[in-house]
Amino acid sequence: MVETDVVSNVDLDKFRQIDDTELDKFTKLSNFEISAIFLEYAAKNIRGNRVINAGRGNPNWINTLARLAYGKLVNFGVKESGETFERDDGVMAGYIDGIGVGKRFLDSLSDSDTVDQFLRNAVNYCVIKLGVDEDAFVKELLDGAIGNNYPVPSRALKYTENILNAYLQKNLYKGVDLINETEVFPTEGGTAAMVYLFQELKQSHILNPGDTIAINSPIFTPYLQIPELSEYNLKIVRLAANEDDNWQMTDEQMDVLKDDRIKAFFDVNPTNPSARAYSPHTLEKFKDVVSANPNLIIVSDDVYGTFADDYQSIYASVPHNTLLVYSFSKLYGATGQRLGLIAVNKDNVCDRIITRLAQDDDEIHEEFNQRYSMVVPEPDEMKFIDRTVADSRAIGLYHTSGLSTPQQIMMDLFALTSLVSENVDDYILTSKKVVNYRYHALWDEMGVNVDNSHANTKYYTLLNIYDLVEKLHGKEFGEYFRSQYSYLSFPYRLAKEFGAVVMDASGFGAKKGYLRISLANLTSGDYRDLAKCMKALIGEYYLEFQQQKNQTKINQ
Ligand SMILES: *Cc1c(COP(=O)(O)O)cnc(C)c1O
Repeated sequence: MVETDVVSNVDLDKFRQIDDTELDKFTKLSNFEISAIFLEYAAKNIRGNRVINAGRGNPNWINTLARLAYGKLVNFGVKESGETFERDDGVMAGYIDGIGVGKRFLDSLSDSDTVDQFLRNAVNYCVIKLGVDEDAFVKELLDGAIGNNYPVPSRALKYTENILNAYLQKNLYKGVDLINETEVFPTEGGTAAMVYLFQELKQSHILNPGDTIAINSPIFTPYLQIPELSEYNLKIVRLAANEDDNWQMTDEQMDVLKDDRIKAFFDVNPTNPSARAYSPHTLEKFKDVVSANPNLIIVSDDVYGTFADDYQSIYASVPHNTLLVYSFSKLYGATGQRLGLIAVNKDNVCDRIITRLAQDDDEIHEEFNQRYSMVVPEPDEMKFIDRTVADSRAIGLYHTSGLSTPQQIMMDLFALTSLVSENVDDYILTSKKVVNYRYHALWDEMGVNVDNSHANTKYYTLLNIYDLVEKLHGKEFGEYFRSQYSYLSFPYRLAKEFGAVVMDASGFGAKKGYLRISLANLTSGDYRDLAKCMKALIGEYYLEFQQQKNQTKINQ
């Protein structure tokens, strides 16, 4: 391998132009905005290095099989559609005839092509394991991929819901059987899932302005920002996990959730940015919490679930109190597709609260009646999840509210790549190996011991710059560094001098000095180079410290 020169010496005069007094004006910006600015600086870095952007959570891999399979569905579906149209001009076709379409589709698949084999396995899996009707299922896949009809039923296509339930069961519940008691609303990514839940919890008067919610922090920034918006005006109690506890919440922090003034707990598990899944102990503790605070609503964002070993969702631990959010964005490299979901137990705390509110408060009852009688004959019976669907489209567009059918079918196919194999599938195993390899490339080059526990997803890693400088150059320098420089100085200079971008993690609610490095978006060689740049920059700070010390001595 060619030795890289990312840490080459440069003209010292150029360094003197670096003036970090402008950092003060960044401290109000979100960490995503700061990263974008640092990225611009990195592009003009004084070493002329190629940019290493370790700020991006977007993965640099994609799942190929499901995408190729999707292409085949469109091709076959269009051919079938040609059979039912009276004209044959080649530019227009009709609708797919459902009778016998399953057999025709399976007959069209070859035995030697891997994508065809996958599609055959997928259809067989759904017919045998999920008990779906072959013709009806293949028709849903083909019509959905072509997108020739509104999504019906609105909440989720019939078989899409079965498949998504099976996928969640296999990958997130760790053996707890919830497949038949869970309802799913596919959404435009985890982003829409979060927005719809915040909206609905307010709309249903479950969360009212002035109410208190808890959040596990550090956490993905939007969870800190949305509750503070004027329309929600929620008070936030942060349960701040520490590195010393391996980023797990302590029992004392969990006990805070037993206070019934805490109406909801918004939670990312495994976490972003600290990249840890809850331990079995913590998952057990949630059972205590909800028996003490039975009306607690837990929103669990499980997007990184498959990256932890032996993962179990909070939903599997306390299913009646948890609203589950999942996204296909990260694992399948599908951030542009916008594929996510909300999953809710048929017996859940939100429905219980809604029923009680309607009984106890005439005004609210009247409001619910007026609002939902536009779309259902029995508004009192309308479930939280269906209210979420209707309110996501301002009620008036409930009948066209479903997620686009091509998106739903794409989710089916991603999910089926996992479901067709008996055990953990190779794709998920590979995704874990990829981030693990990069994680070690970074930390081995830094010369720092790492956490290889099951809980660590390694999708991101947090680095504490204060701890690191002290580890490398001792306590006196550590104290000097802390007192002398802004917490943004290091990432700022890393961008300007080395062309490398890492993210300030204090914007996620971590202590100042924590930086988030994503292991999702670069090669292992890049992570090694990033570590070299960081060590070299720490070396420069150290040099400044020594010069300063000498200067002080001379002046004395
Ligand atoms: C990346 C990420 C998501 C995914 O959001 P999409 O809208 O599905 O792309 C959800 N939650 C967290 C915490 C994330 O980091």
